[in-house]
Amino acid sequence: MMILALELQPPELYKHVHELVRLSFPEYEICQEIAADADIYLRISRIKSGPQLYLHAQLQEGLRISRISCEYPLDMNGLQEDHEISRLTRVFVYRLLCQHLGKNINPYGILTGVRPLKLLHRWLDQGDSLEQILARLEQDFCLQPDVAERLAQIAGNNRPFLHSAREAKQKISIYIGIPFCSSRCYYCSFPGAILTDYTVQMKPFLNSLRQEIEVMGECINELGLKTENIYWGGGTPSILAEDDLESLFNLLAQYRLTSTVTETTVEAGRPDTLSKSKLELLKALGVNRICINPQTMQDTTLQLIGRGHSRTDIINMVQKVRDVGIPIINMDLIIGLPGEGMAEYQNTLAQILELRPENITVHSLAVKKGSRLAAAQGKKLMHELAGEVQTGIHYIGRTLQEKEYQPYYLYRQKYMKANVENIGYALPGRCCNYNIQMMEERQTIIGLGGGAGSKFVNPSDWSLTNLHSPKDPLAYTLHLPEQLARKVDKLKALN
Ligand code: SF4
Repeated sequence: MMILALELQPPELYKHVHELVRLSFPEYEICQEIAADADIYLRISRIKSGPQLYLHAQLQEGLRISRISCEYPLDMNGLQEDHEISRLTRVFVYRLLCQHLGKNINPYGILTGVRPLKLLHRWLDQGDSLEQILARLEQDFCLQPDVAERLAQIAGNNRPFLHSAREAKQKISIYIGIPFCSSRCYYCSFPGAILTDYTVQMKPFLNSLRQEIEVMGECINELGLKTENIYWGGGTPSILAEDDLESLFNLLAQYRLTSTVTETTVEAGRPDTLSKSKLELLKALGVNRICINPQTMQDTTLQLIGRGHSRTDIINMVQKVRDVGIPIINMDLIIGLPGEGMAEYQNTLAQILELRPENITVHSLAVKKGSRLAAAQGKKLMHELAGEVQTGIHYIGRTLQEKEYQPYYLYRQKYMKANVENIGYALPGRCCNYNIQMMEERQTIIGLGGGAGSKFVNPSDWSLTNLHSPKDPLAYTLHLPEQLARKVDKLKALN
């Protein structure tokens, strides 16, 4: 592994610049120790003196040396000044890296976070127009014009779904995590457990989940909160047996957690976990959105990544969902799967469009630590494939919009092949409300079950506290008492 030595003065510059450096040199290990044998040296210093900010940097790669120095006047105070110093530092480092490498290192400019749209909504809250926001993104945050326009378009599309502070005090969503899968897909590091014995593994987990529904249900009722959306994720929640699904839905109803719900989604990523009778049951229980996730419609790739289903299984399952009458189908696609290129992306998209799902979510392959793909692919290979992934993402985005699909939420992932984004598209009037609330973090989400994340949102300033339950079912059960106590405390503290 090649080494990039990063010398920072002061050392806390790390949190501002690390991600930009990683994006620029993905195949290097970044090291903050003094390293005599490093392949690249990057030294950055920042001094604030009165109302002036001074930045100096030198990047040495073999015999090539790039240096820049800048001086910025500061005319603000307090938190505002801190934010401006952070922005100026990132712009400075971004320019140095682009200059040294002779290319744009990040289409998102100095934005490296997972949820860039939150910034746009903050500006819209302040009364800024989309035109002002576009100009600021390009000039002050160095975004490529097409990326800035895409963000502005998505913010415009999902803005009507965001609640006022008063509404956000009353409405919540519930996420229920079932952390079991029938087998492990090669690219995934998520599943808490592979289900080999339903009775032995699932029953104790469900006892804990029931306990969690009861305790949180009481708390939600006591606080007078209304549940707007319920989202069953995982893992693979459709792996649940029909009698367990029914009893869990009944328990939610018993605690009045379903009476105000307008959207209930069940992820059924693997069609081998769904039968016609299970679909009929889900429909009868009020499920109105279901995720049938092919990832690709190429049988060779599906085998290679261990999905355990074929393209024909997907087509048949979509037909069954249509027959049963669940009104919204989401289909997930992954761009960047091994062995695939533009020809496969085009063919997969053409097949999906024939099925006309209401929602299509396009993911760029995130090679996560711990997945089999991460072990199989070195960082260098990922970097080399980045260009094709980006071209594929753009092709799919363009084609979907020509076919009436509109982008309505977006998030980025770290360790992603091309450092691009995941985007949810919907036919007109078919956006998934839960996804918007979850991404824009404008509503409290109570996570129940294994691997479930809770988001406690304070509407007075939209500040956020996250809490995650263990995804391993045994650890989930073991830590449930303290997790439940913390969830109840945090929810009560907001109300
Ligand atoms: S179905 Fe989803 S959660 Fe389960 S192993 Fe595959 S990608 Fe991971």
